[in-house]
Amino acid sequence: MEIKVTLTTAPKAKPQDETQLGFGRLFTDHMFLMDYYAGQGWVDPRIVPYGAFQMDPAAMVLHYGQAIFEGMKCYRRADGGLQLFRPTANFARMSNSAERMCMPRLDEEAAFEGLKKLLEVEQEWVPHNVGTSLYIRPTMIAMDAQLGVHAAKHYLFYIILSPVGSYYKDGLKPVNIYVEDKYVRAVRGGTGFTKCAGNYAASILAGDIAEKKGYSQVLWLDGVEQKYVEEVGAMNMMFAYGNKIVTPMLNGSILPGITRDSILTIARQMGYEVVEDRLAIADIFADAKSGKLTEAFGTGTAAVISPVGKLAMNDEVLTVGDGNIGTISQKLYDTLTGIQWGTIEDKNGWIVKLS
Ligand SMILES: *Cc1c(COP(=O)(O)O)cnc(C)c1O
Repeated sequence: MEIKVTLTTAPKAKPQDETQLGFGRLFTDHMFLMDYYAGQGWVDPRIVPYGAFQMDPAAMVLHYGQAIFEGMKCYRRADGGLQLFRPTANFARMSNSAERMCMPRLDEEAAFEGLKKLLEVEQEWVPHNVGTSLYIRPTMIAMDAQLGVHAAKHYLFYIILSPVGSYYKDGLKPVNIYVEDKYVRAVRGGTGFTKCAGNYAASILAGDIAEKKGYSQVLWLDGVEQKYVEEVGAMNMMFAYGNKIVTPMLNGSILPGITRDSILTIARQMGYEVVEDRLAIADIFADAKSGKLTEAFGTGTAAVISPVGKLAMNDEVLTVGDGNIGTISQKLYDTLTGIQWGTIEDKNGWIVKLS
């Protein structure tokens, strides 16, 4: 597939102070687009200046929410070269999300070619400071202007890019987590395993309430019995008992995180015992109280690892371990970020070098 490139005539100034980047506020000069029409497949891959879409107010995505996305990063190595971490896993997951939402599977090869070309055009936008990266947001939405609940026939796939700051400017920092026992994120047979927009819309209220109580994330329990640990915010959840790491097994309502899979792989390679199981929140609380639970942390692309300092449910507030960063959390964080930024050898074939 030939990718048509139209360059902007009005490039924006690149950010001068990379310590002020934050997350997802600034976008680069160009974006990649590709359309899907039923009967035709994916057509017209193109790179165009970043800008607003023309969209009909009846566009189906605005009414019935056929919208899915992905999140990954482009990293700048110390030698100035650029690299991606497991990008094809993100596109494969997007196809799985699409299938559940009755959207077309992605042309994963065309999407990857589009991403590589877009990054070639935007290479100067990948920030240089330690811990910074260029966040990549592939998205797919239903475009038909038609009311009536059924699958659309025209979809738009696009990729936008946003330079983001270092998640941890002063080293890993533990967060306090609120166990949500009223609202649920996903249910059996639902869309929990997909990155569909509706999952996030449904999560905002609980997140907002937790924040007002002074907690930075919500720990989600299962949507059937509200007894078992699912995820924390938009991260997968892991617990350490000495040299054993346990995490909820993938059950259809949990998002299969690429960071989750990578951390479990690295942990096994480092000699830790790894167990995927159904984890009752009551057991986690009892183990935190008795001191058997030594560490707890979330995993995801944005933070890589987010250690948990305090866990709260109703009026009970528990400190995990000594409330500081655990040694396993720190080791796994150092190793995975080392691989991603190219300071540690990648033995698993995860890195795609672009330059
Ligand atoms: C994206 C996401 C994750 C983490 O996935 P990664 O591939 O590791 O970034 C976990 N849970 C939810 C709900 C997510 O949306």
